[in-house]
Amino acid sequence: MADRKKILIVGGVAGGASAATRLRRLSEDAEIVMFERGEHISFANCGLPYHIGGTIADRERLLVQTPEAMHKRYRIDIRTRTEVVRIDREKRQVVARDLQAGKEYTESYDALILSPGAAPVRPPIPGIDSRGIFTLRNVADMDAINAAIEQHKPRRAVVVGGGYIGLEMTEALRQRGIDVTLVELAEQVFIAADPEIVEPVHQELRRQGVDLRLGTSVQGFAEQGEGLSVSLSSGEQVQADMVILSIGVRPETKLAADAGLEIGKTRAIVVDEHMRTCDQAIYAVGDAVQVRNFVSGIESVIPLAGPANRQARIAADNIFGRPSVYRDTQGTAICKVFDLAVGMTGMSEKALQRADMPYEKVHIHPASHAGYYPGAHQISLKLLFDPTTGKVLGGQAVGADGVDKRIDVLAVAIRAGLSVHDLAEQELSYAPPYGSAKDPVNYAGFVAANVVDGDVKICHVADVLSATPDQAILDVRTPAEMQTGAIPGSINIPLDDLRERLAELPKDKELLVSCQVGLRGYLACRILDQHGYTCRNLSGGYKTYMAVTGMMGGDEPPAGREVTSDTGEAPLVGEKGGGAMPAESEKSLDVVRRIDASGLQCPGPIMQLKGAVDAIEPGQAVQVLAGDPGFERDVAAWCNSTGHRLVDLGRSNGHISAIVQKNGVQAAADRLPATGTATQVEAGISKKNKTMVVFSGELDKALASFIIANGAAAMGSKVTMFFTFWGLNVLRRPEKVGVAKNLVERMFGWMMPRGADRLKLSKMHMGGAGAAMIKGIMRKKNVQSLPELIEAAKKSGVRLVACAMSMDLMGIKREELIDGVEEGGVAMYLDSAESGTVNLFI
Ligand code: FAD
Repeated sequence: MADRKKILIVGGVAGGASAATRLRRLSEDAEIVMFERGEHISFANCGLPYHIGGTIADRERLLVQTPEAMHKRYRIDIRTRTEVVRIDREKRQVVARDLQAGKEYTESYDALILSPGAAPVRPPIPGIDSRGIFTLRNVADMDAINAAIEQHKPRRAVVVGGGYIGLEMTEALRQRGIDVTLVELAEQVFIAADPEIVEPVHQELRRQGVDLRLGTSVQGFAEQGEGLSVSLSSGEQVQADMVILSIGVRPETKLAADAGLEIGKTRAIVVDEHMRTCDQAIYAVGDAVQVRNFVSGIESVIPLAGPANRQARIAADNIFGRPSVYRDTQGTAICKVFDLAVGMTGMSEKALQRADMPYEKVHIHPASHAGYYPGAHQISLKLLFDPTTGKVLGGQAVGADGVDKRIDVLAVAIRAGLSVHDLAEQELSYAPPYGSAKDPVNYAGFVAANVVDGDVKICHVADVLSATPDQAILDVRTPAEMQTGAIPGSINIPLDDLRERLAELPKDKELLVSCQVGLRGYLACRILDQHGYTCRNLSGGYKTYMAVTGMMGGDEPPAGREVTSDTGEAPLVGEKGGGAMPAESEKSLDVVRRIDASGLQCPGPIMQLKGAVDAIEPGQAVQVLAGDPGFERDVAAWCNSTGHRLVDLGRSNGHISAIVQKNGVQAAADRLPATGTATQVEAGISKKNKTMVVFSGELDKALASFIIANGAAAMGSKVTMFFTFWGLNVLRRPEKVGVAKNLVERMFGWMMPRGADRLKLSKMHMGGAGAAMIKGIMRKKNVQSLPELIEAAKKSGVRLVACAMSMDLMGIKREELIDGVEEGGVAMYLDSAESGTVNLFI
């Protein structure tokens, strides 16, 4: 008797169609009716953007089931173009409207499953209903977008919203040759993940020619000629021939709410663990329901296809007396963005902070498979875990290859309640083309277990950015790596020299140790720890530093760098002339070496490049192929600071190909001291001298001058700052110094601010409140204070020169100046200025 139930389903796509087929598998006798408002059922909504982009050429492949085929196999009564408009819970009936015939009729049920999904959000901004604005939810939407592209041949599009649909549509439109401006309100796309994991995605979007506008909202649309004018919060107007709105989705709850079913605080339908609503005869599944987060237990809406399908099966089971239980949603998601994949599972760091849950994190950057096997790519993986028990709370990864596999293993680990120690022990499939004997997941487990077990103390980029005078930053990379960029103010002692050069390190300061990805930093910490130093390893090293500080994305090519666009397949190494590498520049070049560094982790590619460039003659060139996405930036920075010429830089299939021509003159890198005293970041090693005259003694101007000086020093420049007149006040000691002065000199002394901490703002001084405010904001935003910037500049080897003539005029004595300041005259300044390329007067 129980099997002869009549079951109605509202919605015929992911959840609805899954529920229907499961019901039939459980009962041959049940009467199953499925209502679908649209024309199609069970189509692959996740595949829609790929048909627009052309990757899935055949539209029919998206139509997983037709009503006829589904009826033939499952004997399900499918009613397309039929909308269920009302539920009468008392009578256990629904009112359905045949949208073609315009007729309404009732249908009774023993059980009802609601799977109405979620509709794209259309905010009430001016002009939202203009022509040329599209959303993408179903096959009809896809057809409309395709028809518009085919008929109007748009050249420019604006995609609003950088979630996964926005990202996939951005790629699809670029594949159709359309210029895309991607507008995102937040400071990052793929908002569920943490910003540093998404930073390479920003870089990838820009590299693919996408005009990425973060932190920007759309204020309105206006039809203009054949196209649209899109007003942005920045005040700009962007012209577009079409707009894709992908700002998010909202659960379709009207039917349920009108029937008095409980709607949760997330504005989705409330269900129990059996997917039952507050009415025992009505179940709800998919994008329309409220779920609990598996890790935090917090009520959420997580609209994904996997949960919708599993929930549908569970609802069907329960209708036929199988008490299956839905055990929450953990938000496992992945998105392809051109050559990269970004994925996550469990809680992000942001979500953990919001939920006020304790956590620790590690960043690693391993290769996707054995480095010696061609085609390996670097993965950046972040693992979040309970700091005490080591229980895995979340994982995120980004890279060109192998992201899905690692995210899936972490997803299972979270489901199973595993700890980081368990991750270290997992036996995962391995052969060189697929992984490493220590898989990235094992490796993340090792690193995190070291932290939980107290074998190493770690710090994070925020700690480095807010380093105090009691801390020093030690970078244990090689000098050549330092030339690709370094944390301002860091001391450089390569790991292999560390034991011999320990004496150069301050014992009274905590050392924040950095390397490229965190491994050498860990080894250095083990050495330092055993020699009595207090130290912490920067998790993820300089690579994570760059991602966190956003230095990876949107950088303009350094001045003087020649970059041609990637016009095709990069040749494999050794495949001379075999590919379509943009070869104009290569033709006239003597490329004498080709290196395949594609399997090498950072800094491998740059080290290989340096070795090869060292071995060739000036004028000859090297081609290098790398899989590490950071190499694109690294090679440009390295060439910029060594003076070698970056002739070509391109990408294909996720690999970076660069051609570097050796400079005729001895490169700066060749002049690096191999040993000696602790080399502070690039001090005295650059060919590009920069000088600055600091005339002003005002806080904002002094800040600007030191920020520029530190930045230039970090880029390998030799910087000289010449302080004259009011600028001398920046260099004064804060304390009173007992020196002999005449009356005029004493009066000058009283009237002028004593040192960096007492300077006033040039504008908005407001009786001292302006300066205090700006200092507060700087602290909040982790910007170093002026005294810290001065210290950092000194550590980076910036020369601070006090103008002897001004000192004499203003009665400032040598003893009154901070340590590390030289006295000099105009000749000294002019000498520095003449040997440099930039000379600023502040
Ligand atoms: P849907 O599959 O949306 O089905 C709901 C159906 O109910 C609709 O067809 C609607 O017309 C119908 N309906 C609503 N109300 C009524 C009514 N009153 N009467 C009759 N019919 C009604 N998820 C992933 O996990 N990975 C991805 O890569 C991914 N990519 C996506 C790409 C796109 C472009 C889109 C739009 C979604 C994507 N999703 C993805 C999300 C995924 O498709 C949804 O999570 C999933 O389809 C939800 O299933 P559902 O049954 O709840 O809703």
